[in-house]
Amino acid sequence: MPLATPYYLIDENALARNLERVDLLRAASGAKCLLALKCFATWSTFAQIAPHMDGTTSSSLNELKLGREKFGGETHAYSVAWSDGEIDEAIANADKIIFNSVSQLERFGDKARHLPMGLRVNPGVSHSHFDLADPARPFSRLGESDRAKVEKVMDRVSGFMLHCNCENDSVAAFSALLDQIESRIGDLLARLDWVSLGGGIHFTKPGYDIDALAARLKAFAKKFEVQVYLEPGDTIVTDTTTLEVSVLDIVENGKPIAIVDSAVEAHMLDLLVYRESAAVAPSEGAYHYEIAGKSCLAGDVFGAFDFPEKLEIGSRISLLNAGGYTMVKKNWFNGVAMPAIAIARKNGTIDLVKEFVYADYVASLS
Ligand SMILES: *Cc1c(COP(=O)(O)O)cnc(C)c1O
Repeated sequence: MPLATPYYLIDENALARNLERVDLLRAASGAKCLLALKCFATWSTFAQIAPHMDGTTSSSLNELKLGREKFGGETHAYSVAWSDGEIDEAIANADKIIFNSVSQLERFGDKARHLPMGLRVNPGVSHSHFDLADPARPFSRLGESDRAKVEKVMDRVSGFMLHCNCENDSVAAFSALLDQIESRIGDLLARLDWVSLGGGIHFTKPGYDIDALAARLKAFAKKFEVQVYLEPGDTIVTDTTTLEVSVLDIVENGKPIAIVDSAVEAHMLDLLVYRESAAVAPSEGAYHYEIAGKSCLAGDVFGAFDFPEKLEIGSRISLLNAGGYTMVKKNWFNGVAMPAIAIARKNGTIDLVKEFVYADYVASLS
């Protein structure tokens, strides 16, 4: 019996292909790779991922604790701002703590004295196609941008975190950005033990020149005598996960519209945030449909695709790339049934690892 839709389906074989590329990069570059949990935190997969990575990095206390508890390895603690109420627990669960500003470092640094401490520095340059996700946008709060302030705390930190890339699939663009960073703050980098170059490098993409990236990272590490870290999120899970849905109704209004048992805002929110379309493969055939969700939002549309056969009530559709920034953002909008989570094992068996029920919906509010 096929599983009841909707569910997210994670493919272990696809994940293994990406992880092989992580192994190549780590071996050839000497860089350590930490999974960015804000992108993907489906912890049933951690047993497969963890042997190929060095640990996790976080954007909150909850992610930090999850990384420590379920992933292991090195646990980096970062947050745009720690609160007084969470700092002690953050320090207790961290192998390194990275402050986003000099004022946070000054506020909490004494408490974290026994840990390697880092500072997120904003070098003022970036590679991003979206203003929303551009750390170097005007008035950015992401990282300390006042060089004079950074210089004053250099003796308190052993490393910097520089996250300046978003969906960068070009080694040349990455390398040019690193050149700019080196020329801006190279003198400071030379005084550190480690530098995290953040996430956003899409090195698992087919055709990406991993050797060239590795050589660039190795040269950087040698020049400044630092341990390099990367914090990949999206590239680890690209093309590993689908959202499996079924057609509930087919209506006509100028074109045929298939309504499925999911909702964009609830289950693939980033499509709305970044105004992108979902994808199906191969999207070929004589039958054209708009695929839309069952929420009451007028713009709850996954996209328009071609199918080889007419869709019927009950037809199944696989929406691609539902791993990164998708499962972590699912929500109970409209009370739409939350997709279950299933894993396709290497031998083809499909295991249901999580189901959500009415009680979970109730528990999400009070
Ligand atoms: C978002 C983020 C990452 C992960 O970025 P990806 O694009 O998913 O690789 C890593 N580090 C920091 C600081 C981030 O904000």
